[in-house]
Amino acid sequence: VGETHVLCEGPDLQEYGQDRAVGDWPVRPTAIVLPNSVEQIQQVVLCCAEHGAAIVPSGGRTGLVGGACAIQGEVVLSLSRMNRILRVDPSLRLLHCEAGVPLEKIQQEASRVGLLYPIDFASKGSAQIGGSIATNAGGVKVVRYGLTRNWVQGLRVVTASGALLDLGGELLKDNAGFDLRQLFIGSEGTLGVIVEATLRLCAPPRALGVALCASEDLRAVLALFSRLRAADCMLSAFEIFDESSAGYGSGASSPRDFPFANPAPWQVLLEIEGESEQIAREALAPLLTAASEAGEVREAVVAPTAAQASALWALREGISDALHGRSPFKADVSLPLGSLDAFVSRWREAVAEALPGVETVCFGHLGDGNLHLNHLCPQGVPPHRFFANCRRFEPTIFGLVREFGGSIAAEHGVGLLKRAFLGYTRSPAEIAVMRSIKNALDPKGLFNPGKLFPD
Ligand SMILES: Cc1cc2nc3c(=O)[nH]c(=O)nc-3n(C[C@H](O)[C@H](O)[C@H](O)COP(=O)(O)OP(=O)(O)OC[C@H]3O[C@@H](n4cnc5c(N)ncnc54)[C@H](O)[C@@H]3O)c2cc1C
Repeated sequence: VGETHVLCEGPDLQEYGQDRAVGDWPVRPTAIVLPNSVEQIQQVVLCCAEHGAAIVPSGGRTGLVGGACAIQGEVVLSLSRMNRILRVDPSLRLLHCEAGVPLEKIQQEASRVGLLYPIDFASKGSAQIGGSIATNAGGVKVVRYGLTRNWVQGLRVVTASGALLDLGGELLKDNAGFDLRQLFIGSEGTLGVIVEATLRLCAPPRALGVALCASEDLRAVLALFSRLRAADCMLSAFEIFDESSAGYGSGASSPRDFPFANPAPWQVLLEIEGESEQIAREALAPLLTAASEAGEVREAVVAPTAAQASALWALREGISDALHGRSPFKADVSLPLGSLDAFVSRWREAVAEALPGVETVCFGHLGDGNLHLNHLCPQGVPPHRFFANCRRFEPTIFGLVREFGGSIAAEHGVGLLKRAFLGYTRSPAEIAVMRSIKNALDPKGLFNPGKLFPD
């Protein structure tokens, strides 16, 4: 790959050796390798296999579960230089690119030809398409467009033997045997290196209507969700954030952006698609009036302009980054919609009992039953003690998730953070099948050892 593209010392090791997860593991890569072609990736994989050096496939390192962390002398294989868009075909509605292209660049390329790549989330500027496929990322439009999996038409993958698998592409229909492409989507870098992808694009909505509502409790929020689902409108986002989150999303420095005098126990950021902005806004108004009369919302504001719609979105999308500085202890879980209210009450009670003084912050993608639970370190408590306490509390959180029929990993994956809990919501038989697949594709455990699977 050229000497300048192998980094063996200095701050680069720390930078490339970790992602955005907060964990108590060391950051200890042996080297960072930055190839610039598929052939180079194959050679790097063969070289590592020959020398018994494990590989951490690495994208934008925005992951939140430690999947891209190198903690035991692995070689970090960064896709950052593999950032070319190779082909855009508007008539087939396909985009073919290298795996290191940032998600935002894919969105911009699609938009340039009048189309949409609808997967969208706050870290899109840094997250790469390869990383988003490896985590089957979700985001804020899943309620309308589904997960990343729905938008991957083809993949090129380098396996542990150095072979290049060409999995799908232009063919819409290919039922000749197993769809191996699906195995690599959401595999968190444990089965091979995604080197290129063919993505599906779609027609963008003509216009969007955005509203922020304030609700007293989650039952009211769920009633509002059912109302919108039953209505004659195309719901494209239904996001929630609690009272504590509101302070972070609006940013202490700019509370004037928050449209209500005070945040309610829950805010809903909702978006619908329409023929024009005016039509979308006009569709929202009677729905929200009826919701208000039914007690589902206390206050509501419909954004009158696109700029104000963006400002409302920022209240929700800014939360994760604003919290980052507080080193929150996070859990990304999903629950059946009907259990959300009871689950959140039980979680808050359990935190108050086991972690007194810890502030809880809850937000997420309610339409997908996906909650992001955050626990903040109290003033004066050393972070390492706080984290150790939270680790001891984790079985309680995931025990509740299991009790309510949810998943311990909604959209961020398992990585290092949650591997001990995989068996909470996946059966022994399922984990055994996953292990067989791993052994078949990567018998020597070259890719991302110690991730995803429990010991
Ligand atoms: C502010 C913020 C908001 C976020 N919001 C969301 C959200 O709404 N929804 C959501 O799903 N996620 C969200 N995330 C998490 C994260 O951004 C996504 O998981 C993203 O898809 C990770 O992409 P990445 O390129 O940064 O991957 P990385 O962090 O580099 O890697 C993630 C995993 O994928 C593997 N991997 C990376 N590239 C490849 C490759 N080419 N081949 C094989 N394996 C690979 C790594 O080994 C690792 O296991 C958010 C993160 C932040 C910081």
